[in-house]
Amino acid sequence: MNIRANAFDELMAFQRRTEALGQISGRLGWDQETMMPRAAAGQRAEEMAAIEGVLHARRTDARLEAWLAEAEATVVTGDAVGQAQLRHIRRSFTRASKIPARLAEELARVTSSAQGVWAEARASNDVATFLPALREVITLRREEAACLAQGGDLYDALIEDYEPGATAASLGAMFDGMRPRLIELRGAVLEAAYQPEALEGRFGSDGQMKIARELASAFGYDWDRGRLDLAVHPFSSGSGSDARITTRVVENDPFNCWYSTIHEVGHACYELGVDEDYALTPLGQGVSMGVHESQSRIYENQLGRSRAFTGWLLGRMRTQFSDFNARDADAFYATVNRVRAGYIRTEADEVQYNLHVMLRFDLERALISGDLVVDDLEAAWNDRFRADFGFPVDKPSNGVLQDVHWSVGLFGYFPTYSLGNLYAGCLHQALGKAVPDLDGQMAQGDTSAATGWLRENVQRHGGLYTPREVITRACGFEPHEGPLLDYLEEKFRAIYRL
Ligand code: ZN
Repeated sequence: MNIRANAFDELMAFQRRTEALGQISGRLGWDQETMMPRAAAGQRAEEMAAIEGVLHARRTDARLEAWLAEAEATVVTGDAVGQAQLRHIRRSFTRASKIPARLAEELARVTSSAQGVWAEARASNDVATFLPALREVITLRREEAACLAQGGDLYDALIEDYEPGATAASLGAMFDGMRPRLIELRGAVLEAAYQPEALEGRFGSDGQMKIARELASAFGYDWDRGRLDLAVHPFSSGSGSDARITTRVVENDPFNCWYSTIHEVGHACYELGVDEDYALTPLGQGVSMGVHESQSRIYENQLGRSRAFTGWLLGRMRTQFSDFNARDADAFYATVNRVRAGYIRTEADEVQYNLHVMLRFDLERALISGDLVVDDLEAAWNDRFRADFGFPVDKPSNGVLQDVHWSVGLFGYFPTYSLGNLYAGCLHQALGKAVPDLDGQMAQGDTSAATGWLRENVQRHGGLYTPREVITRACGFEPHEGPLLDYLEEKFRAIYRL
């Protein structure tokens, strides 16, 4: 009998069930945002805490140490997949073992209910009603970070959950590299003599959703392994053979619906594109939030907002809507990419998006370090916003209450959005070399060469490589901010005739 081979097999069988339970937990979250009756929030918080308790017990199960030790000693050098599985399981075990079960359950319960408190506070523009819940979430996350960091930096410990290998210092350096060129570009664009028209017209919700489905199909979304529903904040959820997306319909602002849809399709296609041999294993999902966001962003922006693809979109719009102000495809392209002053990160154009993220990055670092207390958060947000964007916040739902993240404890998550943009810039440069006729295909609404290249070079690997490794292998160079900034300057200087 080969005991050593058994250790690996037993470990993977145990892990497969843990992964399946993790998918169930994720589906409870999906349901909470799409289907759950309003009065079920309290019970849902208990359900989330209960499944988190089960998951935590499995992630810290005493048998894991013995299985891991044996499997690590025997996995052969050439078995890259086996080694990667063990690396992920070891990492999860080490991390979970540092967190008391009580804290893991408390975090699940408190963040589930704080999300509801945040939604009510945002709807009524009442920051004060949210602050006690936020204070509780931050206290628990700091406690968790202290368990994980073991004397190291608290915020770095939280980043590790979303972007293994990244640190506040490395992300800060990325922002320092982006900021001057983005601010200069924004200034030039906002002061340009030519300003694209805003989209005007009537766009009913049925027509918006019909085009949203066409766009999802055009980007290769597999309807047999996914579905599209409505949510206040669009998101995607699930892995393997069940990766769902959501979007929203804003009256007479169809771009909100359509580009949210394309964005979430990018996330879902990443999950659906992972090698099916990895299903319900640690390799069976996107490797990090930054790499995830690189997929959603390249679908949404570099591909979806390109001159070629918007020309195709305009044709589809004309089949559905008759009354709107697009003179021709060039004017429509400029309208889609219009840069204007605004409060909301998720509605920000490509030029200003990362400036919104920098604000959050600095504020949440201060919240986690203790340099900023919750009572001063709104004032700190408003001061920083005025300094960075040049005009004051008019109401909390346009300011500190606009994002769900902090209510659900996602500290360290925001910077991965910008990292994803940086990666998308690198991938787009490499994609352009690999698919010389990219624009010709995109102009026909045919994304198959582009999305096929991304699936082959990024998506199918799942968790096999580290985040930076998968991008470096796909691009053939180490990721840096240059390609993104070059792309933005070239694109927006052309649109704004600078
Ligand atoms: Zn995203």
